[in-house]
Amino acid sequence: MSQILEVAIPVPLNKTFDYLSDQEAKVGARVKVPFGRKKVIGVVLAHKNKSDFDKLKSIEEVLDDIPILDTPILDFLSWSANYYHHPIGEVITAALPKNLRIGKDAVIKKVVGLSNKIETPGFSISEEQKAVVDEISSCLNNYRGFLLHGVTGSGKTEVYLHLTQAVLDQGKQILILVPEIGLTPQMIARFESRLDTPIVAIHSQRNATQKLDAYLMAKNGTAGVVLGTRSAIFTPMPNLGLIIIDEEHDGSFKQQSGFRYSARDLCFIRAKQANIPIVLGTATPSLEMLKAVMDKKITRLSLAKRASGAQLPKVNLIDMRAETGGALSAILVAKMKQHLSNGKQVMLFINRRGYAPVYFCTECGWKSECDHCDSPMIYHRSINRLKCHHCNHEKIPEQTCPECQQQSLEVFGYGTQRLEETLSSHFTNIPIIRIDRDTTRRKKAFAEHLEQINSGKPCIIVGTQMLAKGHDFSQLAMVGILDIDGGLLSSNFRGTEYLAQLLIQVSGRAGRAEQQGEVAIQTRYPDHPIFNYVLSNRYTQFASTLLKQRAQTKLPPFSHQALICANAKTKHNAKDFLQEIANLLKNISIDSVEIWGPVTPVIEKKADYYYFNLYLQSTDRKALHQMLATLNQHTDTLSLKNKVRWYLDIDPIE
Ligand code: ADP
Ligand code: ZN
Ligand code: ZN
Repeated sequence: MSQILEVAIPVPLNKTFDYLSDQEAKVGARVKVPFGRKKVIGVVLAHKNKSDFDKLKSIEEVLDDIPILDTPILDFLSWSANYYHHPIGEVITAALPKNLRIGKDAVIKKVVGLSNKIETPGFSISEEQKAVVDEISSCLNNYRGFLLHGVTGSGKTEVYLHLTQAVLDQGKQILILVPEIGLTPQMIARFESRLDTPIVAIHSQRNATQKLDAYLMAKNGTAGVVLGTRSAIFTPMPNLGLIIIDEEHDGSFKQQSGFRYSARDLCFIRAKQANIPIVLGTATPSLEMLKAVMDKKITRLSLAKRASGAQLPKVNLIDMRAETGGALSAILVAKMKQHLSNGKQVMLFINRRGYAPVYFCTECGWKSECDHCDSPMIYHRSINRLKCHHCNHEKIPEQTCPECQQQSLEVFGYGTQRLEETLSSHFTNIPIIRIDRDTTRRKKAFAEHLEQINSGKPCIIVGTQMLAKGHDFSQLAMVGILDIDGGLLSSNFRGTEYLAQLLIQVSGRAGRAEQQGEVAIQTRYPDHPIFNYVLSNRYTQFASTLLKQRAQTKLPPFSHQALICANAKTKHNAKDFLQEIANLLKNISIDSVEIWGPVTPVIEKKADYYYFNLYLQSTDRKALHQMLATLNQHTDTLSLKNKVRWYLDIDPIE
């Protein structure tokens, strides 16, 4: 007897498809089905008694006897698809490891993650840490949210380890999410050396087979701990007992292409569904989480002291207005020399890779810009090329100015490469370790650099964002922060929040062992109010002034936003398309939702496509989502829909 199956298929359409099947196919199992002229892999969502369509096609094959997605995960994925107004088929695709998406068998090739030697740390947990562990462990069997606000180096990871042990003792599993660049081999090793359970890691450096093995070990319950980056939120874990998110404020928990979800926000839904606690740790809480504390939705627990007993670093400003244009002020160089001669390490943070950000004509002021983007070309000296960091377009630098034909072209400004070069002229005998996307492209490179730093010998570390978070370098005595003035002038309303988080996180790398560390920030705007707070480590006070401003201006987290972004080869198509949507939205007429735009983003053209944004904002989340759901039902009527590429971003952060 054939049955009717409702199947989710990975296509960008807001619907599911009905098929006939003679074989048994359980809900949550994968099936191979004909779709148009192709065969695709879908997932069975339900069994039906009747279909609204006649002439149903039959499935080709049932791929799983045991469902690949259990009911709790299917419910979670449906909730997510619904909230983000994204097709369920694509949401399921984003949740599955590649090998399952392409139809490979759901079998474990190699059991991994077994700890071999369990170590005990050379210290005992502090009173402060114990109080936090006790409070959270006392309510492991119910949904509750905790913000673990601990200063940098306060031993949050130690707290996670104790909590994880407590949950393992109950025979349950733990999901730990960390930022993309926070999941280092050191972090994984730290968990493996302390916990007597198989630990699986899910992140981009794992190959497809390893990812599938990890997924299946989590799913069958053998892995006690899943450590992963954002997509690990979708891992099936039948005995899930606790979710931990480390560095909660980090932007990498938000997926910025395709299915644009926030793993941090979704964790709350998953924890509620499983009726378990969720712990969000950070030294610099996001305004969203601070507001949740104010609203008594989550409980704030704090770690105010560094675990090692060290003081927080002393932060100083260096006024660059008196300097003559080099990257390094004389004061900074002198301080660096002092720490290095004491046998310590020094780190310089500059948030730009490449050699120099500007290639220009000293005669007429011409500047090299990307032919495909509204963006300057960045000079990369090692390959003698100008590169666009938006579209990867490359070219050989011009010899003479294309405008005035003079041979007067020069570079201006600094990136990591040029800084490395300048440093090697000041410090001839000290190793310089550069860490940025260019030096860590090779799979193991980042780990090798970290190993060299962890050897503890004096060195200068030069790096970008990649260095800002989580690392614990015991010999690092000083951090210099260069060229952050761009962040002070940011047009994003979240700009100063992000900058304060970055400054405190980068500073937090210094002086984590016994001695107090030192931080020097070079700026041409020493009077900017942000420094008042950063210098004295008063992040919370700064955050509350920002929260007051957001409350007054009704910006998130005091309202909810959605962004509709359209892009097209011709400018007016993108703009007119969004105008069409804006008109449609105005017809839906829900008064509590404000509509702004279409407006151009800061970078209007990227890789030959013109971008426009339309923003929706409301203090009433339901009303906003109701409007978007209605829009989704009417997108077929938009006349320009085949001339543009567009997407919807719920709770955008950019
Ligand atoms: P965070 O994650 O809060 O930045 P970590 O957990 O990495 O901090 O801890 C910082 C350092 O302090 C680590 O080297 C860790 O081994 C050490 N540490 C943690 N807890 C204690 C403790 N109770 N006593 C002594 N050292 C500790
Ligand atoms: Zn010129
Ligand atoms: Zn470009």
